[in-house]
Amino acid sequence: ETARGLIREHEQRKQAEIVEFEAQQMLQAYGLPTPKTVLARSSDEAVAAAEEIGYPVVLKIASPDISHKSDVGGVRVNLGNATAVLNAFKQITAQAQRMRREAYIAGCLVQEMAPAGVKEVIIGFKRDEQFGPMLMFGLGGIYVEIMKDISFRLAPLSRQDAFKIVREIKSYMLLKGLKGEQPVNFTALQDIILAMSQLALDHPQILEAEFNPVLVNHERALVADVRMTLQ
Ligand code: ADP
Ligand code: MG
Repeated sequence: ETARGLIREHEQRKQAEIVEFEAQQMLQAYGLPTPKTVLARSSDEAVAAAEEIGYPVVLKIASPDISHKSDVGGVRVNLGNATAVLNAFKQITAQAQRMRREAYIAGCLVQEMAPAGVKEVIIGFKRDEQFGPMLMFGLGGIYVEIMKDISFRLAPLSRQDAFKIVREIKSYMLLKGLKGEQPVNFTALQDIILAMSQLALDHPQILEAEFNPVLVNHERALVADVRMTLQ
């Protein structure tokens, strides 16, 4: 199936990292919701994809050799028209190639932009030699890095565990909503956590994986980035 093929292909190429644009089909195979995403190989294809998806869109560098896209200026959000997309495609690919001379650049992902007000969370796992896959949940951005507000649980997780790992972070109330804000869709978050637990159990070759960010609001939760490392 999709994930197995993807892993085998990376093993053969001796490439330990699986990046976002490579993992799209695998996410879908696991029933994981992603923003609408199209790989564009030229600026014209990028504009066509953006028209199809609907503005505003996000453009992201698509290269098997670049896993931290923002480090090379490889992510542009809120592109509102064809000119913005055209320019962003050219700038992103040129800058990435300048900063990573050896990298193969496939093009750019054109992606549906999540609406304002979504919250960013991180869902990941690391494989412990002794205990197996350890799932991780936390708020995204500064919360993870500065507050170290993360909770952990060993796989396999039950639906109850998937709720507890979310409730256990200190900033849980931000997800429940402040001042009349609606709570995020907790069921959608649980579904993603359970799918990641299953992914970890199905594929022992994956050493660690991270969905960062998952963008969640009261309606839905979308996996907007993924990075995986093979053993
Ligand atoms: P990186 O490889 O740098 O981690 P990401 O794909 O995570 O790249 O994008 C960087 C940031 O851009 C995200 O953390 C998020 O804040 C924002 N972002 C990415 N994709 C989207 C999207 N589809 N809609 C809205 N914001 C997004
Ligand atoms: Mg990311």
